[in-house]
Amino acid sequence: MRPPARASQPALSDSAAIVVAAGSGERLAAGRPKAFVVLAGRPMVAWSLAALAAAGIPRAVVAVPPGHGAAAEAALAAAAGDFPLGFALVEGGATRSASVRGALAAAGDVEAVLVHDAARPLVAPELFSRALAALAGADAAIAAARVTDTVKEAGPDGLVVRTLDRTRLWAVQTPQAFRAAALRRALDVDDDLLAQATDDAWLIERTGGSVRVVESAPANFKVTTPHDLALAESLLC
Ligand code: C5P
Repeated sequence: MRPPARASQPALSDSAAIVVAAGSGERLAAGRPKAFVVLAGRPMVAWSLAALAAAGIPRAVVAVPPGHGAAAEAALAAAAGDFPLGFALVEGGATRSASVRGALAAAGDVEAVLVHDAARPLVAPELFSRALAALAGADAAIAAARVTDTVKEAGPDGLVVRTLDRTRLWAVQTPQAFRAAALRRALDVDDDLLAQATDDAWLIERTGGSVRVVESAPANFKVTTPHDLALAESLLC
């Protein structure tokens, strides 16, 4: 039987971050992996590492694109003065959750893990702290923004099937905080199931684990397109 989530909140000192930066970023078409595109003077991933350091997280494991280890190390070493936290690099996997699984193995024996997309460089440090605090009594706590547009479900013919109740809808982001033991159990699945996960919290949900939402600002958007990159640049400069 699944053990109930602990009532207490994990200590900052007993946590580690996993920053997934191993995507190719094809939709950005920047000629290099998205997380290493220079954004307002720093590689994109460095903005998340700086926010983690500001939140007091002691250590991070960064999943980098296979074959780009040396370039990633050089880029982060050049920016390391901006984020005083220990970090290690691991090679990412074929899917996002495979990258998380590989990084988790290198995260050490900690109580809690914060998983964050390098593609969300505008994350506020306090969001990491609030996600960790929200782990009290839950297996996972995930940043999410309230949905402000009306959301409809349509069939393949383009005809609307139903309108969803937007007061109960959340657009899910990262950071996502996990009890490390619960995340390890959730990721212990075959690669096909892992590939279906668009976020790691779903892997907790499908086995009956408890996942809490933590309201975040829409500014914590994911950089996907050249338009997003230009917007992030203007907000960070
Ligand atoms: O592709 P998408 O933008 O949804 O990726 C979200 C995050 O997951 C990005 O920061 C990306 O670098 C990371 N990722 C990864 N390994 C993969 C695919 C994506 O670390 N195989």
